[in-house]
Amino acid sequence: MTGAKKRVAILGCTGSVGLQTLDVCRQHADRLQVVALSAHTRTKSLVAAARDFGASRVCVTDPAHAHDAALTGLPRGCVALQGMERAVQMCLSEDVDIVVVSVVGAAGLAACYELVRAGKTVAIANKESLVVGGDLIMPLARPGQLLPVDSEHSAIFQCYLGERADETHCIWLTCSGGPFFGRTREELGRVTVADALSHPTWSMGSKITIDSATLMNKGLERIEAKHLFGIPMEDIRVVIHRQSKIHSMVEFADGSVMAHLGASDMRIPCQYALSYPERWESPAPRVDFRELGSLDFAAPDMETFHCLALAEWAGTVGGTMPCVLNAANEVAVGAFLSGSCSFTDIDAIVERCMDAHGVEQVQSLEQLLDIDAWSRERAREAVRALAR
Ligand code: MG
Repeated sequence: MTGAKKRVAILGCTGSVGLQTLDVCRQHADRLQVVALSAHTRTKSLVAAARDFGASRVCVTDPAHAHDAALTGLPRGCVALQGMERAVQMCLSEDVDIVVVSVVGAAGLAACYELVRAGKTVAIANKESLVVGGDLIMPLARPGQLLPVDSEHSAIFQCYLGERADETHCIWLTCSGGPFFGRTREELGRVTVADALSHPTWSMGSKITIDSATLMNKGLERIEAKHLFGIPMEDIRVVIHRQSKIHSMVEFADGSVMAHLGASDMRIPCQYALSYPERWESPAPRVDFRELGSLDFAAPDMETFHCLALAEWAGTVGGTMPCVLNAANEVAVGAFLSGSCSFTDIDAIVERCMDAHGVEQVQSLEQLLDIDAWSRERAREAVRALAR
């Protein structure tokens, strides 16, 4: 690489994607410079990263942790900020070339919206941003301004390199099937939190691990792909692929299919978002195709994994429905994790909220935040009704 280092800010640097992004920055310290970092609650880990990388500023977004004792360990000259708004502001200055948005949940939506509006290049690892706010964010983004970090979307993005989106026949969105592939609905009703937290391929936070078990994660990814690539829902097909070696495919008008293959290692898509349009060396494991044997494919079971059907409904109707889906799902997953509902109650709770919602066109961030709050309240009511 010629010239100056790429200067990186990471919002949510202590989660799974944040830590793997830091790993990439460590590997490529000659090309990447970490300038700003935020964390929600894990201030110890934030301070360790600030020291490791010599960040010039950090931000703690949870006010309850803004005065943690750990923060006294920040390197000399490192500015400490508080709150989500300041976290976004610290990324807006001239000395940031790319912002990795890996915060979890709705907070990521507002951050992503502000950053894109301000013209910043965003490596997007937060699903909610586009699932909920795609109608707001996409019209503001110039080509190449939003770089996907999620493995499937990075794969699709790479399949499109040198290609034209208007020559797409369909997108094949691959899905590992999760830990409960092949189970019946009845069996699903009996799975425990511990069962659901053991994902066969990826190591992730607990929310996304449950979403991978219900396949809601794939449903959300499908909505995200719709926005990111401008392809209608019905042309984005989910295919079960247990080996997780193909990370997604694009089929073009002439029947040619481009696929992205490689090891299941999040550092690869994390790195590509930072190295784009270049490719750099990676310590991630390699796939030896001589030893791989076979690749399997199957259609998803949308009746058993009802979350996939709900996401299809939300993505097809569009407007504010994906906001309701996403918010209700967050509450339902939380209820499952705390033992307040069963695994199959998750989709029942989400469906109840969607049924009660009158879809609107997306008009503003405030509207989305209101509907998000409404959906959460509705979902909490549904959880309480189950307990009775
Ligand atoms: Mg994914």
